[in-house]
Amino acid sequence: MEATSSGTAPSGGTQVDPSPPKETVRLWIDGRPVETEKGINLLEAARSIGVEIPHLCYLRGINEAGVCRVCLVEVESGGRRTLQASCVYPAADGIKVYTNTPRARRARKRVVELMLSDHDMNCVNCVRNLNCELQRLADEMGIRKLRVTGETRRRPLSRKNPFIVRDYNKCIKCRRCEAVCREVQGVDVYSPKNRGFDMVIAPAFVKDLGEVDCISCGQCVMACPTGSLAEREYIDEVWRAIEDPGKVVVVQTAPAIQVSIGEAFGMDPGVPVTGKLAAALRRIGFDMVFSTEFAADLTIVEEAHELLARLEGRGKLPLISSCSPGWVKFCEHFYPEFLDHLSTCKSPMEMFGALVKTYLAEKMNIDPKKMVVVAVMPCTAKKFEAARQELVTRGSRDVDYVLTTRELARMIRAAGIRLDELPDEEFDRPLGLATGAGAIFAATGGVTEAAIRTALALTRGRPDTAIEFKDVRGLRGIKEARVDLNGREIRIAVAHGTRNARRLLERIKAGERFDFIEIMACPGGCVGGGGQPILGPPDRRKAVAVDAGAKRTQALYRIDAGKKYRRAHENPAVKQLYEEFLGSPLSEKAREILHTTYTPRGRMLNRMLH
Ligand code: SF4
Ligand code: SF4
Ligand code: SF4
Repeated sequence: MEATSSGTAPSGGTQVDPSPPKETVRLWIDGRPVETEKGINLLEAARSIGVEIPHLCYLRGINEAGVCRVCLVEVESGGRRTLQASCVYPAADGIKVYTNTPRARRARKRVVELMLSDHDMNCVNCVRNLNCELQRLADEMGIRKLRVTGETRRRPLSRKNPFIVRDYNKCIKCRRCEAVCREVQGVDVYSPKNRGFDMVIAPAFVKDLGEVDCISCGQCVMACPTGSLAEREYIDEVWRAIEDPGKVVVVQTAPAIQVSIGEAFGMDPGVPVTGKLAAALRRIGFDMVFSTEFAADLTIVEEAHELLARLEGRGKLPLISSCSPGWVKFCEHFYPEFLDHLSTCKSPMEMFGALVKTYLAEKMNIDPKKMVVVAVMPCTAKKFEAARQELVTRGSRDVDYVLTTRELARMIRAAGIRLDELPDEEFDRPLGLATGAGAIFAATGGVTEAAIRTALALTRGRPDTAIEFKDVRGLRGIKEARVDLNGREIRIAVAHGTRNARRLLERIKAGERFDFIEIMACPGGCVGGGGQPILGPPDRRKAVAVDAGAKRTQALYRIDAGKKYRRAHENPAVKQLYEEFLGSPLSEKAREILHTTYTPRGRMLNRMLH
């Protein structure tokens, strides 16, 4: 297998920059001499010597607009000393920068006070209480009373969709959401509307996110420093189901959760808590506790057979993965001409839900109407997916409620459970049994690697000795590889982040040929999903410094390496499922329960109308 790569990683990429060494400059920061790259902004130059200048709108490489003015510092240059926004002021030879003068501190404090003067400060019932960047700044600056008062605007919550709630009353107009949606995801939903005091950062005509081309990925929620953007919570509904004695509440957790939820409890990124997670879910009160990894194995088996069928002329190539609901919605809005290329396999979450209400209900003699399926996902788009009309099997929604990693962390806290102190427990059987292939599904390239493992074994009639395909691992925006499948060369591409997906699809439209493509909507795959823990400012800095996404991914590969079975089709529970219920991959019953269709949505309201 050989590989090439192209494109850019949406964040924290690992590309090697071939350009010559950068020019350096010498300046002074708080009386200390600093040598740094010419043109780097003062905020980063100060960071390089351990000085953290307060800031809000700045996201390195994504939003460097200087709109909030929280990062003001004094700069002495050409004999003048002026206040400047450090995130947009370039480091230059000989300038003197003062980050901690009374004038700079007063100016920064006044900026935050002005923000708060038109802010709905109900911190106690705010979803970001205790990890809000605005709240933290107000505390650090010692703002104990508001000296600025005046006119205020109050707008109703925007919550017509099942995935994201928008509270304009907590928006500080930092434009991080706008930058991430455009620069990382290539969707471009937000822009400024109205002028002056009435200005809002919003979709076209200040519509709800469910009424525009939003793909529900939640990357804007991850970027938002306040409670202005948050997932639509279903915690109360899930507690009610658990408390109802007439319901059997079954929970499944995505593989990405086990390597990230620990962060919400102070653990380092990438510490796996698989056993503690199973124990916590039982203590919360779920009747059956499973991992979605089982269904990830099943997806791979179905998808590998689908690939082989298409390679024999039965269906369009390239076959494109369909397990990322943000990507599927992106395709439906922006590239409906590729819908015939999408795998018809439901996502693992949906396969799992459909099997709970059919196979498991039959096996355990439970009325499927009494079953409630809850899915814990690293993703806000899964909330949209669960509500899709296409994902109803035998009259019942495959998945009833989707909780993000953050919502589950809140439930664990509400139940008084100390996650770090729990003993390890196993997931229930048989649907809790998974291979290493199911675990790596959560990382970019994981679906492809899992599919190659199974496709090679199926075509050769024996397992291939190779098990790890490192060419499709890593954070390059677009990865390419070739595999010899029984004498036929299969061309593969992997993209993560929908901006990279767009680049790849345009190449295909221009005539490039691939046989199999994996696309994940979120940077890094599900480990970087829009439902993952949002850490408070100090932890957030730490998470960025250690590259939390990369640590989570490494943990998944370690889980895979430690598994007894590492190829999806070797999962004994999957084999049992085919023997007892489905018959064979792509059988009529498998197609009824495990496969789906898609809906061309075309462009709705978009930037042209802004
Ligand atoms: S967004 Fe922050 S400052 Fe505003 S109410 Fe929520 S926690 Fe408080
Ligand atoms: S959810 Fe994704 S697509 Fe929708 S507005 Fe946010 S970043 Fe853009
Ligand atoms: S919604 Fe959040 S990220 Fe977007 S402008 Fe408002 S505060 Fe900033």
